Amino acid sequence: MKSPSKRRTMMYFILIMVSVIVLSIVSTRIWGGKPEQPIQLDRLIIQPDMTIARFGRENALPDQVLKEIFDLKAKSDLEKKLDEYGSTEEIRASATKKLALASEKATKNWIKIPVKFGLWFVFLSMVFLGSRKRKMTPGLRKKLLFASVLIFGVIMGSDPGPMGTVKDAIHLYGTAHAIFPPRMIALSIFLLLVVLANKYICAWGCQAGTLQDLIFRINQTDRQKAVMGRQIKLPFIFTNTIRFLFLGAFTLGAFLWAMDIIDPIDPFKLFKPLHLGLFGGIFLFVLFLSGLFIYRPWCHLFCPFGLVGWLAEKISLVRISVDYNTCIACGKCAAACPSTVMEAILKRNTFVIPDCFACYTCREVCPTESIVFSTRKRTLPPADHFNKVKKAPEGGL
Ligand code: SF4
Ligand code: SF4
Repeated sequence: MKSPSKRRTMMYFILIMVSVIVLSIVSTRIWGGKPEQPIQLDRLIIQPDMTIARFGRENALPDQVLKEIFDLKAKSDLEKKLDEYGSTEEIRASATKKLALASEKATKNWIKIPVKFGLWFVFLSMVFLGSRKRKMTPGLRKKLLFASVLIFGVIMGSDPGPMGTVKDAIHLYGTAHAIFPPRMIALSIFLLLVVLANKYICAWGCQAGTLQDLIFRINQTDRQKAVMGRQIKLPFIFTNTIRFLFLGAFTLGAFLWAMDIIDPIDPFKLFKPLHLGLFGGIFLFVLFLSGLFIYRPWCHLFCPFGLVGWLAEKISLVRISVDYNTCIACGKCAAACPSTVMEAILKRNTFVIPDCFACYTCREVCPTESIVFSTRKRTLPPADHFNKVKKAPEGGL
């Protein structure tokens, strides 16, 4: 089969990026209505001698929101002074919390969310069941990734997504000490999926994750060799340290300064590109471009769900494992794995196993079909198993 050329790979990359941006603008317009952008909570105007009605006018708050904040019983209560409800700080805290929740509620599209979860359920089940019947191939993988980007990103939009559930939950609690119950339900569903089947949601359902994966795969031949430049595997200790520090910085920013340091560079915003600034646009272009050479750079270096999911992955019921009775220690799976995880599973010389995205590449290349994605327990390789390997393949053992 003819190998793709460098020029064709670059052309695909540009085509994918441009189509995602243009089609997402059209799709966001069609969905319309919901701004999906929360109210600015740090600019509340509060003076103790204000009436509630004036507080509402100054901050452009509807009566319904005022009713929730101040527990108003009658219209005449709007003329009460704010200082009857406590100190400025107490009112600010209570107003901020209730406003934050009202804002969350108002900015969500309550039709789209259940539809998207339903589609996730159908799509992930189809991939899971389909891959039990037939082997994943590079071509089929690209088609599935493309379909996922199109359905869950372009058509269904940036919200909800697995990352947002962790990021926004931390930010909301840090800035307003509020918990938005629907988000916690969504987060629980995503984590439950990880506990059930590894990072299946990240592998095949997350709009930002599948886009990065697709970009990485268009720079590969069918034998997992890079078409353009070199595809490198960053050491897990490096990527996970950055991911920990980044989540720490994000959490500190939210709790201490009510900042959201992810917002300007959020890769999910590629599916609502009009909300991206110049800096964010440049950052994301560089990020996705680097995705041609590094597997899922956002997932490995920055994503809060990536980190939380990696922890939850430790108790996944269904995951990749190797049958060492039939494994011939050729190391092809570790070489083909886009990250360092298969090498860690095989050698078990590291304390931690990196993120496995359940991409099936290792299973696809194994010549003895010794790799399965099932509930089978991962076992340690026999002590001398890999001494049989004379020369490891490139990138492998
Ligand atoms: S780790 Fe990657 S795939 Fe998973 S939620 Fe984050 S961006 Fe999406
Ligand atoms: S190649 Fe195998 S071990 Fe590596 S990420 Fe994919 S499924 Fe996981």
